[in-house]
Amino acid sequence: MEQVVIIGAGCAGFTAALYAARANLKPLVLTGTMPGGLLTTTSIVENYPGFPEGVDGYELMSRMQKQAERFGARVQFGVVEAVDLTQRPFRLTADGETLESRALIIASGAGHRHLGLESESLLEQKGVTYCATCDGALPLFRNQPLVVVGGGDSACEEALYLTRFAARVFLVHRRDQLRASRIMSERVLGNPKVQPIWDSVVTEVLDARQAKVTGVRLRQVHTNAEQVVPCAGVFVAIGHQPNTELFRGVLDMDPNGYLVAKRGTETNVPGVFVAGDCADHVYRQAVTAAGSGCAAAIDAERYLAQLNH
Ligand code: NAP
Repeated sequence: MEQVVIIGAGCAGFTAALYAARANLKPLVLTGTMPGGLLTTTSIVENYPGFPEGVDGYELMSRMQKQAERFGARVQFGVVEAVDLTQRPFRLTADGETLESRALIIASGAGHRHLGLESESLLEQKGVTYCATCDGALPLFRNQPLVVVGGGDSACEEALYLTRFAARVFLVHRRDQLRASRIMSERVLGNPKVQPIWDSVVTEVLDARQAKVTGVRLRQVHTNAEQVVPCAGVFVAIGHQPNTELFRGVLDMDPNGYLVAKRGTETNVPGVFVAGDCADHVYRQAVTAAGSGCAAAIDAERYLAQLNH
């Protein structure tokens, strides 16, 4: 039986693992489908303290993993398929195998939100993507016009990254003002390769019949006027959705599916703690995720110490 299982291997999960390992709890980290979490899909991280020159997202996560392992954390590739939090120890099924744990830290993060268009899903991996750093350099996209959808920091980051490869980047946003931080907004709007298209939404990605992206159909939200913008790729960067489906009906969550912590990182089930983006729709930063991972491990350690008395 495990003392503590950590679901998720992003900033929150690895920081929880580091603290739990140093408390001699020998935590088991189950990575899910994306070891390293969303930060591995970013290029340079400029706002993680301690790295004045910035740090590559993938490298930062590898370092966090090594640091946790150095103190005895075990990291296992595994996707949790079911949890039973009604009995003690808790029971989890990961890749068909059943595990038991006295405490649980959920740091399952968030995934990319989709536009919800049929043409979008038909063309996923055929020119529609959710990660410029993963796919932007593909030959398919080089020296081509590309579309980024969204107005937040992610969209700005994607657009800027794509200017390295693309002929032109159209930034399609549903309002006439970016949500992104000022520094990112200024960078993106000051880049001559980026052309914003304001007050517009994508109604169709073309062309599912050809099984490749040839453009997007846009609707101006105020006038309803339509236009087609030719492009070879569509990069959707419209925010995130928490990975919490597994806990629906068991753990308290808000209407958008974010887990709700009661006190500190505690959930409504004693012994189950939450950390990172699966419970945070406000800050969603690497450093806040790491901080909450630390807090969850300390809360779990105290909970286990109490059980032993
Ligand atoms: P976000 O801040 O929630 O922005 C999502 C954007 O997508 C918004 O502009 C939103 O429009 C738009 N949007 C949402 N749903 C849409 C839909 N169905 N159709 C069209 N547009 C839609 O998400 P994010 O950019 O992924 O950022 C998440 C967090 O990570 C933020 O806290 C951000 O600061 C942080 N982050 C930071 C950096 C950095 O510092 N370099 C990089 C990436 C992310 P509205 O504006 O109209 O709501």
